[in-house]
Amino acid sequence: DLEKTPKQEDVVASACGGRYAPDSMFLRGFSDFVACVLDIVNARSEYVEAGILDRLAEPDRVISFRIVWLDDDGEVQVNRGCRVQHSNAIGPYKGGLRFAPSVEEGILRRLAFEQTLKNALTGLPMGGAKGGADFDPQGRSKAEIMRFCQAFITELHKEIGPSRDIPAGDIGVGEREIGFMFGQYKRITETFSGVMTGKGLEFGGSCLRREATGYGVIHFLEAMLKHRGEAIDGRSAAISGAGNVATHAAKRLAQTGGKVLTLSNSRGFLHIPDGLSEDRIDEVVDARDAPSFRLEAMADRVGGTWHPGDTPWQVACDIAMPCATQNEIDEAAVKSLVDNGCEIVVEGANLPLTPGARDAVRAAGLLYGPGKAANIGGVAMSGLELSQNAARLHWAKEDLAQDLRRIIEEAHELCLEHAGDEKQPDYERGANRAGFIKVADAMTAFGVL
Ligand code: GLU
Repeated sequence: DLEKTPKQEDVVASACGGRYAPDSMFLRGFSDFVACVLDIVNARSEYVEAGILDRLAEPDRVISFRIVWLDDDGEVQVNRGCRVQHSNAIGPYKGGLRFAPSVEEGILRRLAFEQTLKNALTGLPMGGAKGGADFDPQGRSKAEIMRFCQAFITELHKEIGPSRDIPAGDIGVGEREIGFMFGQYKRITETFSGVMTGKGLEFGGSCLRREATGYGVIHFLEAMLKHRGEAIDGRSAAISGAGNVATHAAKRLAQTGGKVLTLSNSRGFLHIPDGLSEDRIDEVVDARDAPSFRLEAMADRVGGTWHPGDTPWQVACDIAMPCATQNEIDEAAVKSLVDNGCEIVVEGANLPLTPGARDAVRAAGLLYGPGKAANIGGVAMSGLELSQNAARLHWAKEDLAQDLRRIIEEAHELCLEHAGDEKQPDYERGANRAGFIKVADAMTAFGVL
């Protein structure tokens, strides 16, 4: 009965209770999500009765705290930290910590919501969360970063735990930072558990965690292409970022016969017209560990040119692979990509397209792999790390590589099942619907308190 079907805007407005500005990233993201799942909700009275959409619009809990630490000059520094625990319907809260000046509660709410859907797609029992602080690690010494990480966990430790909330890395938080935070948690609680993932190998880390997000993006790309009877072979890609996700996606792409044309940072991009070989990518990965590392200084060594102040989206390529940060591709960038022959966008970063860019990608009919499906390899490997820690076992790289591929292929199939048109699948719709059904079924089973 169409008369009785609520309009999407009404559902979103009621679910958010007027708490967000109409142009907020959260509202727009949630509204897009509702558009994908509204018919499912309307067809299942138990979802309506349990108020599933209203409940998903609000995270279970938002923990906000002050972090006080001493810099190398002995000066007191103050930052704000936050952990958004969005949903533990299908498993303990799980998601990364981000240290960057742009971190604030709004973006963390949005990313935590996204994480709930992403984690559901891995097929592993993990709920969704996200956290971080407005701390800028750039230019900070190792000792300063250590003190900051310790102060951060001193504040947060009461809210996390191996069966409660398991943080991991994200932008600005890598293996070193996880080591400092895990160490502080262990000191304070006098326990040794899998409370964090992305740990060092010596204390329970997974030997494929570093590679997992980037490799997983390429596995997802391969699955999308295979569905169309195509392969990566010979295709070129513009990749943004030079961190963990970007470099491992680049490496795997090169291994699969693709051509890596660019890497980038916030200051500009490196263009390698002949493509970056696997060995050269390894050199970038090795050089990156040094505190003095600057991508621009690699230009000569890898036979490329440095373009200050520009983004890779002006380069002619077959595939655009944003692997840096949120909102890094806008409508103008999509236009430039399409004009230069780009046919595929696959996301290594979380939410790298502005809403306008997503509309433009759809309008241009590009093959689009959204991060909520394409970049689940990282958190999936975190899920496997948790299993190893719980069983006090260590799994071999070859076995993990197989598991990763299987998880990504299954997630791709699941998205396809819900993606509408077989020939022109809408993977974002598929990911939203598949993740939602799983979470909503669990919430319904628990009843309403
Ligand atoms: N930060 C990563 C993500 O966005 C990984 C999260 C995790 O491993 O918990 O999915």
